[in-house]
Amino acid sequence: MPRALKPVDADLLRQLHAILPVDCFRAETTPYTTEPRGLFHGRAGVVLAPGATEQVAAILRLANRTGTPVVPYGGGTGLVGGQVMPDGPDPIVLSLERMTQILDVNPADGTISVQAGAILHDVQQAAAAADRLFPLSLAAQGSCRIGGNLATNAGGLNVLRYGNARALCLGLEAVLPDGSVWHGLTRLYKDNTGYDLRDLLIGSEGTLGVITAATLRLFARPRAEAAALLVVPSPAAALELLALARGHFGEAISAFELIHGTGLEFLDETLPDIRQPLARRPPWSVLVDIGLTGGGDPTAMLSAFYEAAERAGLSSDGIVSQSGSQRAGLWQLRESIPEANKRIGSIASHDISLPVSAIPQFIETASERLNAAGQLRINCFGHLGDGNLHFNVFPARGQSRADSPLPPADIRRLVHELVAGFGGSFSAEHGVGRLKVADLKRYGDPARLAAMRAIKAALDPNGIMNPGAVLE
Ligand SMILES: Cc1cc2nc3c(=O)[nH]c(=O)nc-3n(C[C@H](O)[C@H](O)[C@H](O)COP(=O)(O)OP(=O)(O)OC[C@H]3O[C@@H](n4cnc5c(N)ncnc54)[C@H](O)[C@@H]3O)c2cc1C
Repeated sequence: MPRALKPVDADLLRQLHAILPVDCFRAETTPYTTEPRGLFHGRAGVVLAPGATEQVAAILRLANRTGTPVVPYGGGTGLVGGQVMPDGPDPIVLSLERMTQILDVNPADGTISVQAGAILHDVQQAAAAADRLFPLSLAAQGSCRIGGNLATNAGGLNVLRYGNARALCLGLEAVLPDGSVWHGLTRLYKDNTGYDLRDLLIGSEGTLGVITAATLRLFARPRAEAAALLVVPSPAAALELLALARGHFGEAISAFELIHGTGLEFLDETLPDIRQPLARRPPWSVLVDIGLTGGGDPTAMLSAFYEAAERAGLSSDGIVSQSGSQRAGLWQLRESIPEANKRIGSIASHDISLPVSAIPQFIETASERLNAAGQLRINCFGHLGDGNLHFNVFPARGQSRADSPLPPADIRRLVHELVAGFGGSFSAEHGVGRLKVADLKRYGDPARLAAMRAIKAALDPNGIMNPGAVLE
């Protein structure tokens, strides 16, 4: 049994001041105790921003000895409350914001090594400066940090082509809960030497240690890119279109995003300045993006694809970008949907994944069941190519969350039960955090949960790392 955790108190603060320089202490705690969805309000006994791995190690050694909880904090953009601890003794919030160095860019090995506090956008820029691509891309990329991306195994827009954060990481440096430092910043693509600590820490959401640096994979930069927004009659047609796109473009498809008419309606209502390129708002559409690393004209290729889609009865209208700014305009449409959702205010949001072939049936069944309960608006959009849907439920037009015919917990239960029935996952890319702890307990495989608890107990016997996140 882990011993009871203790809050940060005057004595601990004295000890922290004895081992850390003064620039590690943050005066303001408020920015570190809120999160984007406003569902959790965190506590902080002290916010520390170490400038080096040895300082992270010193903090964890002391926290482990005194039984003080530690909450790792990256950019604070996590959507499941993993970065804020609302209950329990006041923790140390450990921010990586000062550890932002790009350590090494190695085009020959196809790698970039960075400290964990590097902002995702800065890593993309550093890769581009070496004429390479770091493909992880998500709407929060101006704020989220690589350590947070890896700790949540982030997905985003390019998973279809390049994989999620896990697939993009070769090596890690991390501080384990007892303060020991794992020097695992390898540039090896193959290393079959026993249990994979890297894969354990990726997706562990700060519960097994603090990631302090990472070696990431780089790719050839697409030389020419284009996007198309195509109207489809249904999600089933969108799936057929995906198969057609695979035949046409192979590896060159960077993204294949499903967009529901409700999302476009929300944009009209909340962000009218965003230009909607199609004259009539379609019930369903897909955004296809291709990037060519060799030769070829992506606009001509997408136009030919659109014609083939029309001939096959899979698309009735559409637009192919003719320039970089038109492509950016189409992406702005897609990337503004989460902001529009936020402004409308969801009753319940779901980041689910399903076998790709089950998606049309899932959307139909879930929508029918929710509509049977009463008036609701459903905005279902996401990364169709990866089987990842954001299935978000909103009040009917002119109504508020309080008017919902079902409480949020019942909606979540209905959706997640159905997802489980279809062999899907209740968390595709955002993680478990604190929001989905009960879901993991309910839907997690018992043997896997037992193994997870055993791993947690072995690496963090005092339970100091991010208590209450992922596991109860
Ligand atoms: C507008 C918007 C769009 C988004 N789009 C996507 C998307 O498309 N795909 C997607 O996957 N996510 C998305 N997210 C969610 C979020 O951006 C990601 O989860 C991101 O990876 C979190 O990174 P962060 O640095 O902000 O981490 P934080 O929010 O600070 O932390 C997240 C979790 O990681 C832990 N953690 C942070 N740093 C470390 C570290 N160095 N070591 C150990 N643990 C650590 C924290 O304790 C916490 O549990 C979006 C969020 C927003 C606000």
